[in-house]
Amino acid sequence: MLNLAMMLEESAATLPGRDALVVDGTRLTYAEVDAAANQVANLLAARGIGRGDTVALASVNIPAFPIVYYGILKAGAAVVPFNVLLKSREIAYHLGDSGAKAFFCFAGGPGLPLGEEGRAGFDATPGCEHFFLLDESFTDLLDGWPTTFETVATEPGDTAVVLYTSGTTGTPKGAELTHANMVLNALTCHRVFGTVEHDVHLVTLPLFHSFGQSVQLNAGFAAGATLVLLPRFDPRTALELMQREGVTFFAGVPTMYWGLVGADPAEFDLDAITGTLRIAVSGGAALPVEILEQVHKIYGVRIREGYGLSETSPVATFNHPGRVAKPGSIGQPVWGVELKLIDKDGTEVPDGEAGEIAIRGHNVMKGYLGRPDATAQAIRDGWFRTGDIGTRDTDGYYFIVDRAKDMIVRGGFNVYPRELEEVIMTHPAVSLVAVVGVPHPSHGEEVKAFVIRKPDATLTEPELVSWCKQNMAGYKYPRVVEFRDEFPMTSTGKVLKRELR
Ligand code: AMP
Repeated sequence: MLNLAMMLEESAATLPGRDALVVDGTRLTYAEVDAAANQVANLLAARGIGRGDTVALASVNIPAFPIVYYGILKAGAAVVPFNVLLKSREIAYHLGDSGAKAFFCFAGGPGLPLGEEGRAGFDATPGCEHFFLLDESFTDLLDGWPTTFETVATEPGDTAVVLYTSGTTGTPKGAELTHANMVLNALTCHRVFGTVEHDVHLVTLPLFHSFGQSVQLNAGFAAGATLVLLPRFDPRTALELMQREGVTFFAGVPTMYWGLVGADPAEFDLDAITGTLRIAVSGGAALPVEILEQVHKIYGVRIREGYGLSETSPVATFNHPGRVAKPGSIGQPVWGVELKLIDKDGTEVPDGEAGEIAIRGHNVMKGYLGRPDATAQAIRDGWFRTGDIGTRDTDGYYFIVDRAKDMIVRGGFNVYPRELEEVIMTHPAVSLVAVVGVPHPSHGEEVKAFVIRKPDATLTEPELVSWCKQNMAGYKYPRVVEFRDEFPMTSTGKVLKRELR
């Protein structure tokens, strides 16, 4: 018997009165969250939903997310979290593909018509039988159901969570993560970060994505920590909450740290913020060293970078506390996880050379739901192929060179945008940069830099191109520069290079 719901249950048993969730001034204790999750489990069990079933959940970071998430797990079923930006057609695809029996859907709000999209997607999916709207009526829905429930016994290899990801191909596929995958990843994070019950997490990474789910929700609950939920990241609100709630733990993608660097510290009690903040974790995309250093300067905390994918629960490597943190590195593999660098044939590349990162360990998914071919393609001889290109130094630290699919081939030379971005970020007038390849009649591809300038900077395209020419090899420096006020981003805050292209 192993069930991910233990992350909540253990803390509810040992720290019942401790605040588990805080949002907009409302506070829920571990006992209250556990009781509400039991009500969800009772409601599902009464509808015949249990072990072997899947239940979908589309919600922003509100208390209903963890309550429903753990309620589904307690009932023995697997949770299928959806990105909240999906449209009805996509929701119908995800509901049908995952075979979800029931669907919990946040009502939405201004600019987020999730309730309507969800309802339309549900109506178009005959196999999905129950629709529950997460709005004010959620408490009425739970009302009357018993607040106790005996968690259904599940096996370590049972699927706990199905995370939809496009992986290296275009079609969204459901990565099946088992209870063993998710429990071990949560406990690994809890242990590696050294989180304790007095920690206060600011949770603004979307919980439907693996990063927020394992690193903050499951690991935070395992520690008995308090989770302050912020449904939509903006630097000012984040800093206000850090100050007011005494946040000790922040996890974010690099664009969030970029936002924090750009905020005006004079508006906040910086001493209060830096006095409590002790852990800052970055992942999901490459963290420019420039941003790492500025965060250290302003907020007094050294960001520790980690790496992983939805398919690996997600954490695979981390710059472990107590070991040297190498800026620009994704660190070393976490407990029980191995990495190797391979060429196209799957042979390990010699030391010092770049290769595709392959991962083996307790964090690697069971497979893609209902897709044996895609699974066989992704996991070969027990090694999951990530599609990311990396290198390893003599201390066993890994560095991401780039994603294989983001590599630009200019006139036969391979150009890795990541490397150029690191250099361009050091230009004093540059706030943020994203380098992509655009079609070119004779070179195949040309290197183009999209740049957000610092406020009041007057940098021009010819100036930046000539600066790049002085600082980079002739075959790789960007010949084209376009200035933007903002970049298109995914709902997790990663820059959408596909759209820039
Ligand atoms: P997802 O499945 O949405 O979590 O995306 C996983 C992808 O994010 C990986 O394949 C990497 O390309 C990227 N990624 C995650 N962490 C890092 C990191 N620390 N540095 C660079 N890329 C990262």
